[in-house]
Amino acid sequence: MLDNLTQRLAKVVKTMRGEARLTESNTAEMLREVRLALLEADVALPAVREFIAKVKEKALGEEVIGSLSPGQALVGVVQKELAALMGADLGPEASQLSFAQQPPAIILMAGLQGVGKTTTTGKLAKYLKEQKKKVLTVSADVYRPAAIAQLESVTKQVGADFFPSTASDKPVDIALAALDWAKKHYHDVLIIDTAGRLAIDEAMMQEIAAVHAAVKPIETLFVVDAMVGQDAINTAKAFNEALPLTGVILTKLDGDSRGGAALSVRHVTGKPIKFAGVSEKLDGLEAFDPARMANRVLG
Ligand code: GDP
Repeated sequence: MLDNLTQRLAKVVKTMRGEARLTESNTAEMLREVRLALLEADVALPAVREFIAKVKEKALGEEVIGSLSPGQALVGVVQKELAALMGADLGPEASQLSFAQQPPAIILMAGLQGVGKTTTTGKLAKYLKEQKKKVLTVSADVYRPAAIAQLESVTKQVGADFFPSTASDKPVDIALAALDWAKKHYHDVLIIDTAGRLAIDEAMMQEIAAVHAAVKPIETLFVVDAMVGQDAINTAKAFNEALPLTGVILTKLDGDSRGGAALSVRHVTGKPIKFAGVSEKLDGLEAFDPARMANRVLG
């Protein structure tokens, strides 16, 4: 097992006892360790670079107060900056969903296939039902009939309403029909699950952008699998360019990834990570905790 970052920095720090502030030379070696730790957590390189530059800027000249060693001081700066980058500075509201003044509030789910979009739609429906919202779900995935049946199954399991769609319909028509139904039946929230592909392709992006334009969701959530590591940066970029995202849901955090994807996605989108998926079960959704995530990435 690799040492965690605090242990690694402690080793570096042994060589610099008695120094009273963080300087270019005493931070350089420590920052190399931080950089390595982030790369091992599978954070994409541009996100690592941006972060290291920020930490360096904050750390240099920082007084080392009281019993703190320069190493402890740097760990403090790293933890604080990483939590900030994860969204700690955005405040607790950042992880909350917005609701339309005029219901239904529409939530559009976007992401690649297999990341957990349909499961997460079920989890969100459950979460919102527990907040006494009347929830309708619909699948605009016309490529995999099994996807429609899967959404129906998870929706029924959580006791929300399901709007049936058929594979011969167009995604935009499905979304509009579901919206019409939601209005007529006084739903507070309509969650639209969309088709995912194994890789980003132009047709898929145009299709989801068309659904977005047709229904103008108040929340457009990018669902990303924490296990994909640094690949998250490319997917996030493509979805961020195609859609005005309002937030991110990071799934499969119960897996053994360090969660470097969180940092990469924040780097690209700047949007808050609102929830974390922590199990396959439908109650496995938690509000995202930036500080906890920062500690996890640091190992
Ligand atoms: P979609 O293709 O994006 O709709 O993905 P699915 O919802 O079908 O999920 C793909 C797989 O990931 C399924 O086996 C889910 O049970 C699993 N899954 C989804 N979210 C999580 C999670 O937070 N943790 C774990 N361990 N598995 C998850």
